[in-house]
Amino acid sequence: MDEMDAPGPGGPASERTRVRRGANRARYGRDEVLAILDAGLIAHVGVNTPDGPLVLPMVYGRDEERLFLHGAAANHLLGTGEGEEICVTVTHLDGLVMARTPFHNSMNYRSVVVRGKATRIEDEERKSYALKLVTDHIVANWDTSRPPSQIDLRRTLVLELPLTEASAKVRAGDPIDEPDDIAGPWWAGVVPVSTRFEPPVASADYTGDLEPPASISALAGRSPDDRAPSAGG
Ligand SMILES: Cc1cc2nc3c(=O)[nH]c(=O)nc-3n(C[C@H](O)[C@H](O)[C@H](O)COP(=O)(O)OP(=O)(O)OC[C@H]3O[C@@H](n4cnc5c(N)ncnc54)[C@H](O)[C@@H]3O)c2cc1C
Repeated sequence: MDEMDAPGPGGPASERTRVRRGANRARYGRDEVLAILDAGLIAHVGVNTPDGPLVLPMVYGRDEERLFLHGAAANHLLGTGEGEEICVTVTHLDGLVMARTPFHNSMNYRSVVVRGKATRIEDEERKSYALKLVTDHIVANWDTSRPPSQIDLRRTLVLELPLTEASAKVRAGDPIDEPDDIAGPWWAGVVPVSTRFEPPVASADYTGDLEPPASISALAGRSPDDRAPSAGG
């Protein structure tokens, strides 16, 4: 992977969130961080557990100040992360960067890392607020689905993480080859990578005659980047 080390625009919120390798790719601006989070579907959530570090994929939501994670009340990762420092990473792969030498192969990507102390949300109203954001972050269907019951809420563990210590790192564009290799007999370029939603397919046990809600049908043919922004955005 090629990396360059000139400083990026803006500055990190803390020394530990400063991008050191490839600092020219760092983005600390709030809008850029939020745009990458909004375009993402999956976060990788890292926690120090008693039997070692554990990183698991999860969905997430956000408002202007916080990231929200949810799971079953018995969730091991979230239960262990409550009140502790955790790390959440969201990554988009945008392209394979093929250089004239494998030493300069790279990937085009957008990623965000958020570090901080996770706190459990106890209050039911705030829990509903956070769960709506997590739900609608993927596709806005909280309001077109069965409303949550008291039991649903009790069975669900929700953590919040301040968005204060967040950094983004972005690579775009062509490979960066050695000047002496440019005229050489090797191909160089980028293979773009994208994800697209397909038209929705009703469940095998669905016996109704409703069309999918508009927010769901509207996904067909779109990429995660093009779907409606989260309610928090
Ligand atoms: C795309 C995606 C989105 C998800 N979103 C959520 C979410 O929002 N909330 C949520 O609670 N869960 C989500 N999950 C499931 C999540 O990754 C965990 O499996 C789940 O939360 C259980 O966590 P736990 O710590 O209780 O697992 P445990 O069952 O206690 O984990 C025990 C061991 O099982 C293995 N393991 C656990 N999960 C996985 C996994 N996903 N893949 C491979 N091995 C695993 C690990 O070795 C782990 O140490 C998602 C999974 C995927 C793939």
